[in-house]
Amino acid sequence: MKSTGMNRHINPNAIESVRPVTGRLRLQMAGAVVMTLLMVMAAPVMAQQTPAPDEPAAEAIPAVASPAEAQAGASAVVFMYHRFGESDYPSTNIRPEQLDAHIAELKRGPYHVMDVGAIVQAIANGESLPDRTVGITIDDAYRSVFDVAWPVFKKHNFPMTVFVSTEQVDTDNSTYMSWDQLRTLVAEGVTIGGHSQHHSHLATMPIAAVKAELAHSAQRFKDELGFVPDLFAYPYGEASLEVREAVLEAGYKAAFGQHSGAFDDSADLFYLPRYALNESYGTPERFLLAANSVPMPVSDITPADYLLQRNPPAFGFTLHGPARDLNCYPSSGVPTMTRLGDARVEIRLDGPVAPGRWRINCTSLGPDNRWRWFGMLYTVPEKTAQ
Ligand SMILES: [Zn+2]
Repeated sequence: MKSTGMNRHINPNAIESVRPVTGRLRLQMAGAVVMTLLMVMAAPVMAQQTPAPDEPAAEAIPAVASPAEAQAGASAVVFMYHRFGESDYPSTNIRPEQLDAHIAELKRGPYHVMDVGAIVQAIANGESLPDRTVGITIDDAYRSVFDVAWPVFKKHNFPMTVFVSTEQVDTDNSTYMSWDQLRTLVAEGVTIGGHSQHHSHLATMPIAAVKAELAHSAQRFKDELGFVPDLFAYPYGEASLEVREAVLEAGYKAAFGQHSGAFDDSADLFYLPRYALNESYGTPERFLLAANSVPMPVSDITPADYLLQRNPPAFGFTLHGPARDLNCYPSSGVPTMTRLGDARVEIRLDGPVAPGRWRINCTSLGPDNRWRWFGMLYTVPEKTAQ
């Protein structure tokens, strides 16, 4: 196998493209030969003109212990959990010892854990944020949020935001919290966000039905909690420009998806990234990489609509600054990357992607060996134009 520069340090993002995840991170430390194998498996793209870097393989593990440096402007990393200690659902669950490891890292490292509403407000207003600002969000009002997560976060003074699909609470199912429990959380300082009424696949619903979901859930929040939340999270991370507009019109101030990445004021406030944490993606190693990641500011992302209109997608973006060792990792498809000048990056795939969700993650080496990380998630309908 030909060894190229891209094998010198494995991109942490490769773990999100190809399963399994846990083994991959462990293998990260196993040397260049293993890395070569992994990189081939992960099918990364690298521009032909990118010179072979001479960084040592040891840079595979970012040096996170270096002192916090001042970052220009405000940026943040937001994490997303779902269930806690519910091992029957590994793809949405986090084990108690994993949560403990996350908490230990947040306590140990130079992080500033802040309320996500305050983070979004600071970024929207062009205010500064401390380096390594971290936000904690939880999607769905699972009972284990009340029983397991909140006691832990509360003990450590870590603010959390819970995105609630109102019907889950209204159905009076013991899997979910009750309105009384949600009122308790609110009284104790937890931020509540909107997450539609029925936890629907909003991107592929008629827009009138989306608006009805938003209106109904807003009314339920008002009735039960006395307010309508400021923040929204798209169920499954699935959105479209039309849905985005409806969420904005409904009065929300910002909305999160489920694509990885750090963000700053160059990000779309109504399609903000979050790092998902579950049993596979919740290892201490990945948590460390994500918590220390910095934004890769880009603009003119194509396709502009997060609901794919043509398949395969013609993915591209314009970099706002130099991106050392830029690599992109699609969740499926064999990619080819083209660089147009210094700033424009275009990625093409070898064929259409399957209906559902298609992700692509791009990373480059940032300051202090921290990863710049830009991800996108596209919802792929059953039928798209070729
Ligand atoms: Zn959800």
